[in-house]
Amino acid sequence: MTRIALAGFFHETNTFSPQPADLDAFRRPATLPGLTVGDDISRVFAELNVPISGAMRALSAMEHTLHPVAWASAVPCGAVTREAFETIAGMILDGIAAVPDLGGVYLDLHGAMVSEAYPDPEQELLRRLRVRLGPDMPVVASLDLHANLSAARVAALDALAMFRTYPHLDMAETGARAAALLHRRIAGERFAMAFRQLPYLIPLHAQATGVNPAAFLYALCAAAAGRPGIAGAELALGFPPADVPHAGPSIVVLGDPAAAEQEADALQRAMLEAEDAFARSLPDAEEAVRQALRTPRGPVVIADTQDNPGAGGTGDTVGLLRALIAQDAPDAVLALLHDPEAARLAHRLGEGAEADFRLGAHSGAVPEIPVEARFTVERLTDGRVVAVGPMYRGNTWALGATALLRHRGVRVLVSERRLQAADTAVLRHAGIDPKAVPVIVLKSTVHFRAEYEVLAERIIVAASPGLHLADLRGYAYRHLRPGLRRMPGAPTF
Ligand SMILES: [Zn+2]
Repeated sequence: MTRIALAGFFHETNTFSPQPADLDAFRRPATLPGLTVGDDISRVFAELNVPISGAMRALSAMEHTLHPVAWASAVPCGAVTREAFETIAGMILDGIAAVPDLGGVYLDLHGAMVSEAYPDPEQELLRRLRVRLGPDMPVVASLDLHANLSAARVAALDALAMFRTYPHLDMAETGARAAALLHRRIAGERFAMAFRQLPYLIPLHAQATGVNPAAFLYALCAAAAGRPGIAGAELALGFPPADVPHAGPSIVVLGDPAAAEQEADALQRAMLEAEDAFARSLPDAEEAVRQALRTPRGPVVIADTQDNPGAGGTGDTVGLLRALIAQDAPDAVLALLHDPEAARLAHRLGEGAEADFRLGAHSGAVPEIPVEARFTVERLTDGRVVAVGPMYRGNTWALGATALLRHRGVRVLVSERRLQAADTAVLRHAGIDPKAVPVIVLKSTVHFRAEYEVLAERIIVAASPGLHLADLRGYAYRHLRPGLRRMPGAPTF
């Protein structure tokens, strides 16, 4: 029985977003809980699909004594502010250092955080942790499938585990895998970690693990993890809108040194062979809506990947809304459009009222103008949503005031808060049965698939305006490492 400190600091940073992640953003709950401290962590996370939840359950079952310290996450956006990083890192480091007779540390990290002060703040957190605890303290982390891993970060850890699914259905399971590695490390085992970075970026819409090539590659990882001498075979597909030298996919194989190197080589070859299979082109907003309206049976889900708040999108671009109205879609709904002003105006007007609205495009993130049209306020809600899908089940989301507005056949759910509409509860809480709507536009890239893949007749991923580019060659990168291809199969430049 060992005393183990647990902490989490979770942010996926789109360095091309001008919206910073400040301390307030980490304090508020989003799609995952907000800043939670001490014993509250055991209560809040007990039943959730979050890495620390799985780690706590596994470590308790192994009869270790748990000391949860602090856990914080914020909706993906621009760099984490100095104040937010220093405050939360300080809470984590001081909390861990205060645990008496500490025998091990579990960290729930995302792996693609960038802060104003550090291109690799998670490495900075680990560096400070090692300064305080020394090189021999067992420290193990779980990481998101979208981690952008650096060699220094791998070296600072004793072991790691990463999600193998996107949508992230296995967050808690990954926490449990990391916990099992920590348990083995505490018992005296040491793991070599063979690390490889791949030479091309993969846009998020091509990373869904339910389809190839990602499905095949993760099957290879699972097979490799079961071989003699191997303790884990981990693949991160990376978070590409991050202008940092360590951006992109990577492989970590844990185990005996020779076996780990050999499996890492094999997975690296498989990733290189899969490169062209990750390349795919997307229709623009007008074409996506045309295709959806031509589809005989719905629901057709159009994924507005470039404005996905879960990848740092502002959630307020209107390319697809404009296309739905221009093509006079007979029955369509779009969620969520981040427009606090419109949501509040609708609440002042009341249900049934009709008024001229100027919807979206307020952030100025992309050169667009708001959609100006007459809308009926069909429904108002307080935005309290309890997620029901397999990825987020049990999380309570606060969308703020929401309003379902209608213009002819097109409905749009506007909200005060910026969140990814990845769970069907977002539509259901506004009285919409997603199965009954022929065309659904979601500001999401892949997470919506956890529920909508079964429910939808067809899914179209569209490239409508937004900060999360599907064609990564559109970003003005300055800090990528030499030789990294901006798109699968693209020439290096
Ligand atoms: Zn992710």
